[in-house]
Amino acid sequence: MAVPLKRVYLDHNATTALRPEVRARFLEQLDRLGGNPSSVHSSGRAARAVLDEAREQTAAALAVHEDEIVFTGGGTEAIQIALLGAVRAAGPNACLVTTAVEHSAVLGAAAELAREGHPVHRMPVDGVGRVDIERLITEIGTSRAAVVSIQTANNEIGTVMPIAEIGRRLQDVGNLAPVFHTDAVQALGRLPLALERSNVDLAGFSAHKIGGPLGVGILYRRQGVTLLAPLQGGGQEGGLRPGTENVPAISAAALAVELATRDQAVAADRWRALSRSFWDQVQAVVPGVLLNGPPLDDSARLPNTLNLGFESVGGRELDGRMLVARADLEGLEVSAGSACASGSLEPSHVLLALGHTPERARAALRISFGAQTTHEDIHTAVEMLRRTFLSLR
Ligand code: PLP
Repeated sequence: MAVPLKRVYLDHNATTALRPEVRARFLEQLDRLGGNPSSVHSSGRAARAVLDEAREQTAAALAVHEDEIVFTGGGTEAIQIALLGAVRAAGPNACLVTTAVEHSAVLGAAAELAREGHPVHRMPVDGVGRVDIERLITEIGTSRAAVVSIQTANNEIGTVMPIAEIGRRLQDVGNLAPVFHTDAVQALGRLPLALERSNVDLAGFSAHKIGGPLGVGILYRRQGVTLLAPLQGGGQEGGLRPGTENVPAISAAALAVELATRDQAVAADRWRALSRSFWDQVQAVVPGVLLNGPPLDDSARLPNTLNLGFESVGGRELDGRMLVARADLEGLEVSAGSACASGSLEPSHVLLALGHTPERARAALRISFGAQTTHEDIHTAVEMLRRTFLSLR
């Protein structure tokens, strides 16, 4: 009988499995709830109570007030409600300052705002993907930015931005302090977060990156921040996200947020050890492998994310998508960058922004660890990569 191919999944920044406790809560609520949380009868009130509990649980885990939590249909939706809502609320010529390395959720909103005539400035980054704070503050002053959006952590290369320092500096801008949004989708559960202390006004999160269900996002909106709702309909979620809430999934997502924040420090230590082990082993078997983004000992990097770059093999430039397909044949599941852009022929905009050539930006693999990843997985994954590269010779 053929031995089934062992598979190793190292693409947890794309999505990660439901945590068992979260799955149990999800199924329990699916079985139990039958009402619409906006209905006034008993079934509706039961659903409303679960929704209220989920909001309290999420707010407590993020150390914010429950009125500041808006449940959405995913991270992209949370980010777009925040950005479209904040810039449009600030007036027809309101300006957005963001960076060149944001996820397409932010870049898509920025492109839409630009089409509407809003000035949009995309700040360059340095060779590891970090924005220069002095240049950022100068740009914000010159352009009189109404909204600033800087990701907390990059999904492709793991660079962590100095959010707390940026938040503090924005306060010095005085009465004209712009609204500060951060895409914190990859940061939740991977880094310690301090929304209030960082002077963040708006932040987007996604449940499926932390062991919660797909299709649930969380928008943190500081009390008093005005948003013009981009979607119109019922008055759910403070009028910001009309449509009947997916209560069982939201309830499961709230538990995922609690568990991810509770376990963050321990998980990060484990991931750092896995990253070190992976990097040491991969250098020994893949000649000329490079680390894109911050060095491993940089404290401002995601502990679970490594972006590998490769030199040409036998004069042939490598293509990340081809590498992903070949690695998959060996049993290893990784990605060539952002999952949303995986079908794209374009080199990663993040690696280009770091100053890499298009060839080098195309020859990249993103490896990301999750709660279930073990040292044995790392060992097997390196062996699978070794075989992948052997097959290229
Ligand atoms: N922002 C970042 C940094 C991400 O990595 C992702 C998901 O890949 C998103 C936003 C979008 O989240 P969702 O898939 O929940 O829409």
